[in-house]
Amino acid sequence: MALLFKDAIIKVCNHLGIADPKAVYTRLMSELITCMQARSTDRTAHMKTCIDQRLEKTRQFNKFRLTLTNSNDDIISSLDSELRNLVLSFFKKVFPEKRCDCCGTKSVNVQYERAHNKGRRRPHVALDALKRIRSDESAPVHQATFMRAFIEEHRMHPMWYLCKPCHTWYDRKTDTVRQG
Ligand SMILES: [Zn+2]
Repeated sequence: MALLFKDAIIKVCNHLGIADPKAVYTRLMSELITCMQARSTDRTAHMKTCIDQRLEKTRQFNKFRLTLTNSNDDIISSLDSELRNLVLSFFKKVFPEKRCDCCGTKSVNVQYERAHNKGRRRPHVALDALKRIRSDESAPVHQATFMRAFIEEHRMHPMWYLCKPCHTWYDRKTDTVRQG
């Protein structure tokens, strides 16, 4: 098992006799997230290119055959796992390298996850898509149209490829930012 970034920092701090290794880790993570966010424009451009290349070729939307008539909130909460799976399969090739965008951990033994950008989590992106394609909430919408629109929304928002500890940290911190 690879030594995770957090474990490595704590080990180094203990070795150097630094009293509060967790504070060092927190500070370092804040800096790393800032560096990652600075690459947002490049990542968004990369995602747009990948989406444009794949959107017309993919058959992934064909399996969604329902016509949706519920409220936007009900549609999003009911289809959450479908949306998650679609992100996983559609964006597989956007992140061909197994390397954490935050801490740089690179190992086949580490669990990686795709993360939506700060303040633009999956339900927000899904709601943007629905509002764009649905004139009002009583209008029926094809599930396939919605799923495609959901993917299209990702042209405007970067996504990140993070190791599990960084993803947990990123979500916790960005939740705090949103609430604050
Ligand atoms: Zn990481």
